[in-house]
Amino acid sequence: MRKSYQVLLSIFFILTPLYLGFLFWSSTRDHFTPTPYEYLEVNEPDVLGENTEPTVKIPVLMYHNIAPVPRTGSVNYRGLFVSPSMFEKQMKYLKENGYKTLTPQEFYDILKSGKNPHKKSVLITFDDGSRGQYKYAYPVLKKYKMTATFYIIADRSPIKKSELKEMVKNGMIVDSHTSTHRDLKKLQGTKNFKFQLVDSKEKLEKTTGQKIVSIAYPGCVADKRSFEMIKKNDYLLGFSCGRTITHRYSRRFYLSRVHVYSDMERFKKALTKGL
Ligand SMILES: [Zn+2]
Repeated sequence: MRKSYQVLLSIFFILTPLYLGFLFWSSTRDHFTPTPYEYLEVNEPDVLGENTEPTVKIPVLMYHNIAPVPRTGSVNYRGLFVSPSMFEKQMKYLKENGYKTLTPQEFYDILKSGKNPHKKSVLITFDDGSRGQYKYAYPVLKKYKMTATFYIIADRSPIKKSELKEMVKNGMIVDSHTSTHRDLKKLQGTKNFKFQLVDSKEKLEKTTGQKIVSIAYPGCVADKRSFEMIKKNDYLLGFSCGRTITHRYSRRFYLSRVHVYSDMERFKKALTKGL
């Protein structure tokens, strides 16, 4: 009798952690995190091709984690980090070199005009709203009186609502990175598209009181179904990833952003030539 009790108890202690582990795994499953290299194939310079449509040259920088770069992990994983001190160095460089930081609305207006701005300009963007973005990046941006756009996952933001409000009050832009970070190319059904693209916009607008004009696609992927829905729902711009810093209006729903590494030389190259 006592022996079977012990057997039951040990089964309980083995199965419980496994079950909890499974629950955790399944809860994170639809939040897919691509590596920086996966999205380099999209929006290549040659996609812009021969065309008479005017182009504008403005680097759109894409950051993920602002935190000490992990010593372990794959190159791709570590590539998603920019250290807080390197981030400050990069922002200082922009300031000292006379760069104006644009809002998505300003970027849109320039894109629509088809004319390069007189002043050197840049659009700074962050994906996923990680804690380090609030803790390290936001104070630096505030200090240098710069603006940046934070693409927030409406239902899963590590940056709290009160913090988002505070950031907006201090000149930052909060735009949509969908509701739960699903792969938009694999998504099915109008209801799901509406939930990811439209509901996320409404929820974030309600949080910050600021109108949302742009979206960054999770993993930088999306297709015509998303482009059509965002167009219909008052988005002006959709951001993917890429290597180019040259843009044209007709591609406003699939724009290239260049990945930023924790490296000053690569940063300068991204600003002037792209990746
Ligand atoms: Zn993301």
